[in-house]
Amino acid sequence: MKILYATSEAGPFIRTGGLGDVSAALPPALVKEGQEVAVILPLYEEIPSSFRNNMEFIGNTTVPLSWRRQYAGLYKYVQQGVSYFFVDNEYYFKRKAIYGHFDDGERFAFFSKAVLELIPLMGFYPNVIHCNDWQTALIPVMLDAFYRKAKGYTNIKTVLAIHNIEFQGRMSSYVIDNVFGLPDEFASIVEYKGDANMLKGGIEAANKVITVSPTYANEILDPYFSYGLEHILHERKYKLQGILNGIDVDLYNPEKDKALFKNYSYKAISNKKANKKGLQKLVGLPVADVPVIGMVGRLAGQKGIDLLTRVLKEILSMEVQLVVLGTGDWKYENALKEAEKQFPTKLNAAITFSADMASKIYAAADMFLMPSKFEPCGLSQMIAMRYGTVPIVRETGGLKDTVEPFNPEKDTGVGFTFKSYDAYDMLDAIRRAVTVYYEQPEKWDIIVKNGMSKDFSWNKSADEYIMMYKNL
Ligand code: ADP
Repeated sequence: MKILYATSEAGPFIRTGGLGDVSAALPPALVKEGQEVAVILPLYEEIPSSFRNNMEFIGNTTVPLSWRRQYAGLYKYVQQGVSYFFVDNEYYFKRKAIYGHFDDGERFAFFSKAVLELIPLMGFYPNVIHCNDWQTALIPVMLDAFYRKAKGYTNIKTVLAIHNIEFQGRMSSYVIDNVFGLPDEFASIVEYKGDANMLKGGIEAANKVITVSPTYANEILDPYFSYGLEHILHERKYKLQGILNGIDVDLYNPEKDKALFKNYSYKAISNKKANKKGLQKLVGLPVADVPVIGMVGRLAGQKGIDLLTRVLKEILSMEVQLVVLGTGDWKYENALKEAEKQFPTKLNAAITFSADMASKIYAAADMFLMPSKFEPCGLSQMIAMRYGTVPIVRETGGLKDTVEPFNPEKDTGVGFTFKSYDAYDMLDAIRRAVTVYYEQPEKWDIIVKNGMSKDFSWNKSADEYIMMYKNL
């Protein structure tokens, strides 16, 4: 099967979060299972020159976008058996930051159209186009509106993967004609509640809609999680499916990760301790054998930072240290920086994006806190378990699907969980974890090992994806 994977970010070229991780890992996992896979993404300014200098220029074309005629260059780079194609247009993509521009709708409408327009130049006529999030959600719509009758396009099937339904590409309905250039009979597909909504268009037009965990696939049918799309999703429930993400177990490997102070494995787990010492020294916390709670992630409402700030004092009144790494909402960044001044011997907050520092925290921490309000899948909790760090999570989305609560009678389970989005329920879960850490170290070791021995590799998910493509 030939699968064209369209995405707005893919590691190691460019990555701002979970989508970049998934786009880096799923395509090579599909290739390993014998599929032919090409990935296509924009050629952003921020893609390092070490990659750019080794790309092959394939050709260029003109992309019609309503009344515009825009240049699209095509570059190619092959890695791990996957062909990566890059769409070049300096007007749209030669900018600092890959998202957050006033014309993001136009930028990604252009990219979506370019993907379809460039198929002949790629020489890769796919059986399936796998789209991701709102940025590429217009591809199924544009395929039906403009390309269905063209040679090689007639039988292409489309999949839309929703990594986070909060972000929908919503803007004034004026763009439907003026930017997307969609004919009147397609306007209602992307129109929603008086606006243009790119994600909704994709949900309507794609043959299959995937979310990144089974629990999240159910949750988004509920208005609490759906950000207004529950009616559409109910109507399209027959094509909705949840497939859990994996993680790149070669990249996230405590035995080989070069960022660590000391490498370790399941068998030589005592070496993990050197990482705690190393991190404490690095960030200026007292070097002590107290449980270190780590957090790595976007500082956004979604991630439950409100719960953290609400009971921060109570958490830090325990014999623990808290190390946070993240960027995002200025109010959370400020709150954490202020709290750090107040609790200099207990809290360290690094407001930056650093893969090196993230690895150091995953390895150094004893516990990993992820109290998300909602979590489509979540990768951080799986990375934490891979590094022998015990997750404390709220039972939602992929967190519920990956973190089985510890059962002291049967010695099963991998972490500590709580149900309600409530700061004191979270505090209770942290207290339970800290109590086991101090009072039952032998049980603690079991939890750590249960987590480390779980298989979070992409193999299983890749098989599920292939089955889903085949069924299409
Ligand atoms: P989301 O996609 O909602 O941001 P995920 O848990 O699915 O959350 O994926 C987050 C990924 O981004 C993880 O690999 C995590 O380690 C990484 N990450 C998040 N924030 C940072 C940061 N400040 N520095 C380094 N890596 C980060």
